Amino acid sequence: MNQKRVEELIGELLGELGEDLERDGLKRTPARVAQALAFLTRGYSHDPVEVVNGAIFESVSDNMVIVRDIEVYSLCEHHLMPFYGRCHVGYISRGKVIGVSKIARIVDCFAARLQIQERLTAEIARAVTDAIGAEGVGVVMECRHLCMMMRGVEKQNSVMVTSSVLGSFHDDPATRAEFMALTQHRV
Ligand code: ZN
Repeated sequence: MNQKRVEELIGELLGELGEDLERDGLKRTPARVAQALAFLTRGYSHDPVEVVNGAIFESVSDNMVIVRDIEVYSLCEHHLMPFYGRCHVGYISRGKVIGVSKIARIVDCFAARLQIQERLTAEIARAVTDAIGAEGVGVVMECRHLCMMMRGVEKQNSVMVTSSVLGSFHDDPATRAEFMALTQHRV
């Protein structure tokens, strides 16, 4: 991303909105927005395979592993407005497990791009499957979309829920039911 060019464009945008770029509060806004955008879209320069970076361990267990309540912050590609919430990732390994923090890194890798929630959910499921060759993977994501809350239908309390299930989580209703039940269980 060309930082200087983005700053210019943000400045032009503020002008079009009728703002006075010379007033104190806005003087450094183009630079700040450009920096923020670079951070919020950092996922484009992250590769999910590199993110995992070898944090895969042998395990004899073939039980279900679930990492719940991973925070998600992303930008909707339709309005460039945030959507945020949490996701739960579960898998059944085939002799390999992945470090918990690495699952969160995979989520960030795809969330820090322009997204729709459905695709984000599917990309995470696919990346976890590919990383460990899991027998099955499930991802459930619950997010609030500011583009819905602040504009459009102005539904402030609606939460969008998406899921993506692969392998045995897709094929076996009992496995899927166990995953769904565990993602809703509260300690
Ligand atoms: Zn939107």
